[in-house]
Amino acid sequence: MPARKLFPDFSFEIQARQERARAGTFHTPHGDLLTPIFAPVGTQAAVKALTPAQLQDTGASLILANTYHLYLRPGDDLVAEMGGLHRFMNWPGPILTDSGGYQVFSLKENRTISENGVTFRSHIDGSSHLLTPEKATQIQENLGADIIMAFDECAPPYDKEYNQRAILRTHAWAERCLQAKRRTDQALFGIVQGGIFPDLRGESAIFIASLGFPGHGIGGLSVGETKSELHATLELLDGILPEDKPRYLMGVGTPVDLIQGIRRGIDIFDCVLPTRLARHNAALTSTGRLNLVNAGFARDEQPVEPGCTCYTCTHFSRAYLRHLILAREMLAATLLSIHNLHTLLNLCTQIRESIVAGRFNQFAENYLERVAYPETNLESDNTQ
Ligand SMILES: [Zn+2]
Repeated sequence: MPARKLFPDFSFEIQARQERARAGTFHTPHGDLLTPIFAPVGTQAAVKALTPAQLQDTGASLILANTYHLYLRPGDDLVAEMGGLHRFMNWPGPILTDSGGYQVFSLKENRTISENGVTFRSHIDGSSHLLTPEKATQIQENLGADIIMAFDECAPPYDKEYNQRAILRTHAWAERCLQAKRRTDQALFGIVQGGIFPDLRGESAIFIASLGFPGHGIGGLSVGETKSELHATLELLDGILPEDKPRYLMGVGTPVDLIQGIRRGIDIFDCVLPTRLARHNAALTSTGRLNLVNAGFARDEQPVEPGCTCYTCTHFSRAYLRHLILAREMLAATLLSIHNLHTLLNLCTQIRESIVAGRFNQFAENYLERVAYPETNLESDNTQ
């Protein structure tokens, strides 16, 4: 178990539990993360439409950036030269980078997989690149995030044979990522794969947990499986993954997903949903999704969500937001991103408080009853 020595700057404490839900603190070199936590996605080292100051005002503490995109442009060497991601994008808090695996595996026609790694063509200029576990680790060391992810293979959720091969590769690659790691100020998380198959998920969780990572990612979910399959997988993993390390459910993050995940022992989430919805003129509210283009809002003086304390809701009406959208003003995306992120981040804060106070179950029941939209109306979208 070499992990403790490899990750001296990181530790995880659990302050309170209610059944499987946990309220914890993950210490990182750029500050403490209070869990459960939602990480806004800043694909290209920017959370779209927001300045870092606006992002901080929404309550964000951890943000995610994408290795695949930053490797291709501007290049991880350039980011390192400019002092690393924190300095380059001027984000003082903790940052997480993915390994790039999810993106390269999504490039279906433009990639070839071998035991060594994945050869793929850039979506920008068609140039050919080889991403290996060693390379993915080196790129993430150049980028310099606090939490970095092992290079893994995400297989289609219902293809058992493929998942069998993919977990073996994912396991070998996880060991190679650990071997390749040089920096001690970054926490490398291992990733569990295995599709919807309990035997494969179990095998993968046992193996990945045995490697001594300081935290665990759960990959290959929110990619087409049903909610009950997602929940069953989380329940199985909750019984296997070490309790004293954070669990990160990758690419999942509707309000309901958050509650259902936290109920099953998840600590960290990320999703493009709140900022993507904002750019499609939609607001996340505590009772569902609001499309602000609707003519009914033309003279609506109410804020997006009455009672919301975000900057958008305390300063502007639905009528004004609708006007901005129709006039194609950039401010619309900014104001809606502020509201949507505040909604998810505030939900995490409320959940954390309810776990500490021992009333999370009640909070979850009330919330789920109030949400009027069917889940299909608000799918997590695991694409970046
Ligand atoms: Zn608001």
